[in-house]
Amino acid sequence: MHGNGLPHRIDMTRLGEGEHSWSGALVDCPLPRMDALRAHVGAVSATLTLVLDRGRPRLYGECAGTVTLVCERCLAPVAVDAAGSFDLVVVDRIEEADGYGADQPVVVAAKGQLDIAALVEDELILALPVIPTHDNTDCDGGQRQFGPAGEAAPARDNPFQALESLKRDGSGEVH
Ligand SMILES: [Zn+2]
Repeated sequence: MHGNGLPHRIDMTRLGEGEHSWSGALVDCPLPRMDALRAHVGAVSATLTLVLDRGRPRLYGECAGTVTLVCERCLAPVAVDAAGSFDLVVVDRIEEADGYGADQPVVVAAKGQLDIAALVEDELILALPVIPTHDNTDCDGGQRQFGPAGEAAPARDNPFQALESLKRDGSGEVH
């Protein structure tokens, strides 16, 4: 087991034959595709095992994290627990993926460089709901308003009343 959290990238050329495992948090990692989805990613943890033997390298494991998205109903933030698991054959180039059936997913590691951050990001994106919404009890379904249509704002928030009292204060009245 390799310590010190999860590497953002693994250089397979520096590892010997056998099984290598990592476990921990993905810290301070840019996740540009999550940014593009306007998703804020909280703590992400993962476990990874890389098997290097005479055959193709294999990478398997799981990841989980909390992702904050925008609710499609009320446009407020909604936190989603996302988790994924993967079992991948590692190839050098995407062209090599053709040699594997559709039921065997692959991950490309050009020159033996495994981009763990991108892999975990992929898995979490796949786990996100297509249309994020709050549970019904948390979400007003877009019906939020501050009272019946046409009703004035609550009196305590009326700045003109505050202004009135300031004017009276300035008029020399005794308090
Ligand atoms: Zn909502």
